[in-house]
Amino acid sequence: MGETLSGKKVAGEVIPELAAEGKKLLDRGIQPKLVIIRFGANPDDLFYEKGARKTCGQVGIAVDTRELAPDADTAALLKVVGELNDDASVHGILMMQPFPKHIDIQAVRNKIAPAKDVDGMSPFNEAKVYENDPTGFPPCTPTAVMEILKNYKIELKGKNAVVLGRSMVVGKPAAMLLLGEHATVSICHSRTADLAAAARQGDILVAAIGRARMITGHYIKPGAVVIDVGINVDKDGKMCGDVDFESAAPVAGMITPVPGGVGSVTTTVLAKHVLRAAAQAKA
Ligand code: NAP
Repeated sequence: MGETLSGKKVAGEVIPELAAEGKKLLDRGIQPKLVIIRFGANPDDLFYEKGARKTCGQVGIAVDTRELAPDADTAALLKVVGELNDDASVHGILMMQPFPKHIDIQAVRNKIAPAKDVDGMSPFNEAKVYENDPTGFPPCTPTAVMEILKNYKIELKGKNAVVLGRSMVVGKPAAMLLLGEHATVSICHSRTADLAAAARQGDILVAAIGRARMITGHYIKPGAVVIDVGINVDKDGKMCGDVDFESAAPVAGMITPVPGGVGSVTTTVLAKHVLRAAAQAKA
């Protein structure tokens, strides 16, 4: 049975370090502040916001929310982003995604100030991920994947890493971050010819496809490190990952659970980014 990689353990170790950084900023008269923008109040966003507020509260970050009407247009969103860009008391801006379909995502990505873009949306921060430049803000979720691998001292250099999923938010940046650590990376997607065979090449397997429990033990190389990014709801209304833990855990060497895996670390990465943005704003 593979060892469980606990995101809760990782978060538990990182939060005291972040709290110390938050205190240092407060001692210098800087109140780090994050503003969350969301459309309406859908349960997924509220769940994530609750976690973000809890983590930020633990490390001394103030959090505000700007709620837009679900039918607010791109101009309304750009106006809010512009105000927050110009507000020196705001260090980080987090926009809940996915946006409503009528929003021009490209315009929003171009508008957010890169220095406040703590979830790595802007083309500027995206480029830094591809350049392996650590001064940028990569998106929080793939960074959480890396935090778990780092915390458990999993060697990446020279290993085959297979990323399932190629979204701009998770799959592609995860692949670039793994490449930056000298893994040999393959990216799979819905048109990959034989997904199971491709996945079984992975010493490290990152699943980010949004398909409840699709990745069974059959997809896993014996002894592989399996990181499950998926957050899905199964037919019984239970939260589950993209990996079928029951069949995967006996094959894997190490594996993250859902819940209690990547999701538990994502908000600590967010908090870390806000603290860095606050420190850099005053540097
Ligand atoms: P997404 O934008 O829907 O992208 C899904 C990717 O998976 C796409 O590249 C798609 O391929 C691929 N895919 C879908 N079905 C597939 C299949 N049957 N076989 C192979 N590839 C398939 O999703 P996302 O935003 O990247 O999120 C992925 C998962 O992570 C979701 O479960 C989401 O809820 C979760 N998530 C978790 C966190 C966290 O903090 N833990 C944060 C964000 C997202 P194509 O490109 O070919 O369509």
